[in-house]
Amino acid sequence: MTGNFAVIGHPIGHTMSPFIHKKLFSLKGIDVQYSALDIYPSSLSDSIFHTLSSLDGFNVTIPHKEAIIPLLSGIDESAQKYNAVNCVRNDGGKLYGCSTDAYGFTKALEANGVSLSGDVLILGAGGAARTLAREASDNGCHLTIAVRSTSIEKANELKSWLSANGGKAEVTSLDKISGRFNLCVNATPVGMYPNTDNAAVGTAVLSKCSAVFDAVYNPNETKLLKLAKSLGLKCVGGMEMLVWQAVKAHEFWYNAKFSADEVSKIIIEANVEMERIFYAK
Ligand code: NAP
Repeated sequence: MTGNFAVIGHPIGHTMSPFIHKKLFSLKGIDVQYSALDIYPSSLSDSIFHTLSSLDGFNVTIPHKEAIIPLLSGIDESAQKYNAVNCVRNDGGKLYGCSTDAYGFTKALEANGVSLSGDVLILGAGGAARTLAREASDNGCHLTIAVRSTSIEKANELKSWLSANGGKAEVTSLDKISGRFNLCVNATPVGMYPNTDNAAVGTAVLSKCSAVFDAVYNPNETKLLKLAKSLGLKCVGGMEMLVWQAVKAHEFWYNAKFSADEVSKIIIEANVEMERIFYAK
């Protein structure tokens, strides 16, 4: 089997998607072209449809996850839930979208023995926070959403959306977090390359948590995870979510399944590749 796949986004320079997807295709003996297409927001219109429909499937990243929807013939429940698409399949010229983000998050936790239950602290109220908070909420967790004091309104909007969908959440600012948490989820870009010395919260908050998930995947071990590790907490990094999301895309495209061992190996390889690209002296 051969195929022609891509990731679309803007900017797309240092995406890990080609590396991860080529590894997954290669495990199934599929020879693919997988390219990174830099598409400006203003170019994502009917004129690009020809290019996109010449692909067997593609991934979608920022800023096109919502804007792609009108170009598609349909979206599944996972995409409807978040009004966002990160994976598209070409069925005989008709494009269908889904969202694999939530699956990536829950599988990353599960693979590391971290339960999504009890009191969960969500740092941030942007796109990733929306998905991770909703998954936690749908799992019956009680949420505390912590944001910068200037972003309380944005966090309240997230809270309202969660409440409208049967969830329970409180909002606080990052400097006023109190209570104990089963899990702390960082859904801010704080600590991401090149600002790797930063963490959204410090040991005062982390010492009240049992586990930490950091959506940031570059670096593999963020400052937040280093602090959490020093306190003996269970830690899960963003690369785990990124690779599990990719695994779900292969199921959506051609019904592929991968073992936990195969996925773990790719997570390690992706981290080595990222280290090589960004940190090699
Ligand atoms: P986003 O929509 O821009 O939201 C970012 C959130 O972080 C906002 O709530 C923002 O709050 C907050 N924030 C930004 N800078 C901050 C700072 N210095 N201190 C405190 N809060 C800050 O971004 P996103 O798409 O949600 O992505 C967030 C992170 O998750 C990124 O690093 C992204 O790479 C990562 N991510 C990873 C995966 C994965 O598979 N591992 C998937 C999706 C996203 P303000 O309103 O105050 O700016």
